[in-house]
Amino acid sequence: MSAFRIERRGLMLVLSSPSGAGKTTISRLLLERDSNLSMSISTTTRPMRPGEEDGCDYNFVDPTEFNLMVNRHEFLEHAKVFDNYYGTPRASVEEALSNGSDVIFDIDWQGAQQLGEVAGDDLVRVFILPPSTDELYRRLNQRAQDSDEVVETRMARAADEMSHWAEYDFIIINEDIEVSVGRVQSILRAERLRRQRQVGLSDFVKRLQEGY
Ligand code: 5GP
Repeated sequence: MSAFRIERRGLMLVLSSPSGAGKTTISRLLLERDSNLSMSISTTTRPMRPGEEDGCDYNFVDPTEFNLMVNRHEFLEHAKVFDNYYGTPRASVEEALSNGSDVIFDIDWQGAQQLGEVAGDDLVRVFILPPSTDELYRRLNQRAQDSDEVVETRMARAADEMSHWAEYDFIIINEDIEVSVGRVQSILRAERLRRQRQVGLSDFVKRLQEGY
């Protein structure tokens, strides 16, 4: 019998955390190391930060365009975070999943809740916690892009974001980036084997039963 690949549906890996817990670095390393993963590029009304690229970090739009996209049902979920609007585009995600590609989402707890209502078995939710408040403060201060006021606001919002930890399937305390990346990779390895995702299994088993 020639070996054949069992068709699999992609999964949606949601990574949420308070700002500064290391989520962006973890996502970047996962993407570098796993060719079957891609990042969902959100649409936002937030102004572009230095070093960001339109279409790469986010699709940057004005509030009018964002509202039009909401009305056209172009988002799988959308939410207001820190005075700006963010949304996850529907079409690109659905295409990736049906091609068997896995997608990472860097979204907040509101987005994770909304995806929970529409994504069913496709969804795997991971929450990343900082090892301590001091460490979170230190990491937020290191970000040159944000003003002191923004840092203070985000520190205040961190407690609020963290209050949603129990709505996630997996919790990672990010003390060491390499260890945390390894943990997310373990989650991915196991989740990819779930029966519900292996949509080609019934054909495969039928072939086994029929003896070829
Ligand atoms: P930032 O403006 O720092 O890039 O992101 C601020 C927050 O918005 C982060 O917590 C990030 O996870 C969240 N976020 C980014 N894109 C989306 C999105 O499409 N939907 C939701 N719900 N949150 C998002």
